[in-house]
Amino acid sequence: MLEDLSVVVKVVPRSRSVSVRVLPNGSVVVTAPRFTPRFVINQFISKHENWIREKQGIVAKKLNALVAERERLFFRGREYDFRLNISSQKEGVKVTDTNITVTSAQEDHAEVRRILEKWYRLQATKHFRERVPLLADLVDSNVKTVSIRSQRTRWGSCSSRNTISLNWRLIMAPDWVSDYVVYHELAHLTHMNHSKQFWLLVERYVPNHEDAQKWLKDHHSLLQF
Ligand SMILES: [Zn+2]
Repeated sequence: MLEDLSVVVKVVPRSRSVSVRVLPNGSVVVTAPRFTPRFVINQFISKHENWIREKQGIVAKKLNALVAERERLFFRGREYDFRLNISSQKEGVKVTDTNITVTSAQEDHAEVRRILEKWYRLQATKHFRERVPLLADLVDSNVKTVSIRSQRTRWGSCSSRNTISLNWRLIMAPDWVSDYVVYHELAHLTHMNHSKQFWLLVERYVPNHEDAQKWLKDHHSLLQF
């Protein structure tokens, strides 16, 4: 029976019956009450084999979808090939001239995504913590704080308390485009609306702001990452 299925049996004294789960990484966990004979567990697994295989198929498909969907990854406006390295080495992300390689212990959709997002966030934090004060200085703006957020629908925002929030996904855009978003938010510190005066100020900061807006519009799907 099921030699090729690796099953972890968890004894849960308070459980009333045998049950089975398939984890996001594809492994199978059977929960059983104390003193459940092994043959009962084996019978249970055999009985649910089709269900288990079906679930595992779904999990594997999700990962394949991630890889297919993300064959290419953006980072600071450049496109890289996405590579997945399943290994027990330390998790992380490595960038070469052509590739972005994610090392993960598990071939699991959510896990790979988590590692990638953590890396993007770190890069965004490093980049914008340096970049925003520099650009603010150029336009004599008094920004106190930059925070890196995860808004689903916007690239940036600002508050009247001189704080600028930027979406970590902005690190995927070219620098001239993310600079535009920073300038846009800096202009909001003067005009908290999208009035004509606001756009005149943006125009002064970024003469080619329309090209930057177009880039963001064309790459809107990056916000869905
Ligand atoms: Zn705005």
